[in-house]
Amino acid sequence: MMLKPKSHIQDLRIYEPGRPLEEVARELGLDVGTMVKLASNENPLGPSPKAVAAMKASASDMHLYPDGGCHYLRQGLAQALGVPPETLVFGCGSNEIIELLGHVFMEADTNIVMSEQAFIIYHLIAAGWRAETRFVPVVDHGHDLDAMAAAIDEKTRIVFVANPNNPTGTLLDPDAVRAFATKVPDEVLLVLDEAYIELLEPQQRPELQLKRDNILVLRTFSKAYGLAGLRVGYGIGHPELVRCLEAFRQPFNVTAMGQHAALAAVTDTEHVEALCRVTRDGLAQLSAAAAARDIPVVPSCVNFILLETGRGRERFEALKQQGVIVRPMDGYGLPEHIRVSIGTAEENQRFIDALDHILA
Ligand SMILES: *Cc1c(COP(=O)(O)O)cnc(C)c1O
Repeated sequence: MMLKPKSHIQDLRIYEPGRPLEEVARELGLDVGTMVKLASNENPLGPSPKAVAAMKASASDMHLYPDGGCHYLRQGLAQALGVPPETLVFGCGSNEIIELLGHVFMEADTNIVMSEQAFIIYHLIAAGWRAETRFVPVVDHGHDLDAMAAAIDEKTRIVFVANPNNPTGTLLDPDAVRAFATKVPDEVLLVLDEAYIELLEPQQRPELQLKRDNILVLRTFSKAYGLAGLRVGYGIGHPELVRCLEAFRQPFNVTAMGQHAALAAVTDTEHVEALCRVTRDGLAQLSAAAAARDIPVVPSCVNFILLETGRGRERFEALKQQGVIVRPMDGYGLPEHIRVSIGTAEENQRFIDALDHILA
């Protein structure tokens, strides 16, 4: 084409998401009903039934634009979290908030600091703004917080910590995160991405929201709440930071149905508890299966686990042929691993059977 996009665009990598079931079914001529997707850390129990009821009840109002300010969701969530409403910023998934951070903080001759095996979106957004990504090597597949603190310089605008971390499933000691937060200079934003925090015990959580002006905590309705398809995420931070982020968001960035469903899901603690049980059991099931087959795993505290099957991309392709979708990890510098989301006991078994089949 003759168009003239910015010159660095051609170097940008495009995020490789988990493959949708229907897409793989079409590609391979498989029956969707016989397939399982364990690729995107979704809730295998589905959305909260309360959220489904709220979606149905709101369906006939969908000719109307949403409330751009997310008033009722803001009030309800603020109350549930015990934070002032003006400290919340909502996005089309917390991914959108990461993008808004790019608008507010990133440009050429700045940098971000992140762990080399952490959520790759941080880097992709930074690359789009020509900001440098300072990747910090991992310790035991987890964040090396001391090395991350040391990597911060005068050009650093944001340091990203995903806790629990995706894709490795590692968890940081809450005291270590709190100590790290005191080392981040006041001029640098510490983003604590807590996409899986609802799956942890209270004493495992650092609870750093609003503890310092330069901390933004990111959360999502996509994982524990089972609403990934609706795209609702949020951040908790200083009201002035929230205003900066809001300056760049689309006026109607969170759908009306998403707002209704998320508000209903917040109060459904039973549903989250059920997922916690399924996750605990599923981690035990997959860890035992891996151990029985001499496949090393990275110990996980959340609803996915890294398996060192060797030749990750090949395994991913072979499993796909068996109708089981997992995630290859070569994009994260882990070519020998696959990442498997925890499903129901039957789904996990389906994966184990398919793995046995392809390894035989
Ligand atoms: C899933 C995930 C998110 C959030 O995704 P959204 O669906 O956009 O809310 C953010 N960070 C991490 C580390 C995740 O795994």
